[in-house]
Amino acid sequence: MLKPFEVHIQAEPLTRFAPVLGDARWGALRAHAEQASARMAGRTFWNVNSTARGGGVAEMLPWLLAYARGAGVDARWLVLEGTPDFFHVTKRLHHALHGSRGDGSALGARERALYDEVLRDNAEELLVLVRPGDVVLLHDPQTAGLAPVLAAVGARVAWRCHVGCDTPNEEVERAWEFLAPGLAAARLTIFSRAAYVPPQCADRAIVIQPSIDIFAVKNQPLAPEVSRAILAHTGLLRPEPGAPEPVFTRGDGLPARVSRRADLVGLGAASAPETPLVAQVSRWDPLKDPAGVLMGFARLARDSPGLRADLVLAGPSVASVADDPEAATTLNRVIALWRQQPHALRQRVQLVCLPMADLEENAAIVNALQRHASVMVQKSLQEGFGLTVTEAMWKARPVVASAVGGIQDQIVPGVNGLLVRDPSDPAEFARAVGSLLEDPVLAGRLGAEAHQHVLAHFTGARHLTAFVHVLEVLDA
Ligand code: UDP
Repeated sequence: MLKPFEVHIQAEPLTRFAPVLGDARWGALRAHAEQASARMAGRTFWNVNSTARGGGVAEMLPWLLAYARGAGVDARWLVLEGTPDFFHVTKRLHHALHGSRGDGSALGARERALYDEVLRDNAEELLVLVRPGDVVLLHDPQTAGLAPVLAAVGARVAWRCHVGCDTPNEEVERAWEFLAPGLAAARLTIFSRAAYVPPQCADRAIVIQPSIDIFAVKNQPLAPEVSRAILAHTGLLRPEPGAPEPVFTRGDGLPARVSRRADLVGLGAASAPETPLVAQVSRWDPLKDPAGVLMGFARLARDSPGLRADLVLAGPSVASVADDPEAATTLNRVIALWRQQPHALRQRVQLVCLPMADLEENAAIVNALQRHASVMVQKSLQEGFGLTVTEAMWKARPVVASAVGGIQDQIVPGVNGLLVRDPSDPAEFARAVGSLLEDPVLAGRLGAEAHQHVLAHFTGARHLTAFVHVLEVLDA
């Protein structure tokens, strides 16, 4: 018998936001927190997804629920249990919602039976926990089929979809057809972009964009010299005499030292601390287009021979994503491409696999790199919503990113970053990056705007406001 398990979340006090939000926004956040807790008095806010680790949803739920608890809401997280066959079907659905065929397997009666059976099992336990009037937020395709039974016992059910496709095709339609019976029972559906809302949900859909936890290790303030010390310690930068300790603060508030070195592939020499860095931090995935970044940088080097800058392409250590054979293939392709470049260019490009054994340490290194880089890039070919873009913007970095998917809702071009219209054109990418390297005043202005934009739109405070809106709709 399959049953969901609970991941227990500690409350985080909302007072953390007081010093960063400013009076007006802090006042609004407190008012929303009061509304949320008043509306939820005597009720529980359940979140149900299918994994406690890995993936954006599992990243976001702990801190979103921690702040909801901090607001006085009994917010709880349940992870449903599945079988390999069930996850095969839901992976297929996930690919289909991205418009891709995945492994091309069927989504027919057999798959529906498998999907329904696992959710029926999980629902038995859920029905013991969930009471009439409780609010249940189901996440992603794995959980959509739970909506009918939960709605039938009087729960207010919403479904949140964290994926989407800019140009829906047959695959996307097939996935929506599969999910339709479950979704019919959801009072509200939530998407990351308006363009992702399917016709079936158009009458009860809202958009809530993902946000970042500005207090997470990955986003905590670091003095420039500490960022440099962390990067020097991992091997990306040349060490500086008299540098401070490469220390960051862990989630539990205790200081820790970055102790592991990154795995540097094909590196000529570590960058000089004063050389401007252009950097992309991403999984080794063809859709993140690391090869395109390399070729765009090569174009920049060719077109602007006097410009001083190095490129860092960083991603997780491939050993840490052993379940993702595509990662190794992608990285190997970039290495091969790097080998084909002239020696002088190779000296300026670092391909870096970041240590993943300690996720907080990894976050500290990503933080240091995003803070130290003169320009952060995200040259994705497709992107639901680029967390890396928001993370870099929070650090007041000027970002150059492709005008694809959710990135178009994150960056206002020329105001808080630059968008590259044609991701297949290295020259356009090179021009955008070059314009920021050559004009530090412009870079500074875009970065400062970017930070303000994230503060206004992409933090946990904004999510709490969105939650109050969700409650209003569900209770209407
Ligand atoms: N990330 C990381 N270490 C890495 C590479 C990426 O922590 O070596 C993080 C990155 O900081 C971001 C997340 O992984 O928080 C990637 O989210 P995004 O939405 O940018 O892309 P996804 O991987 O979900 O497609």
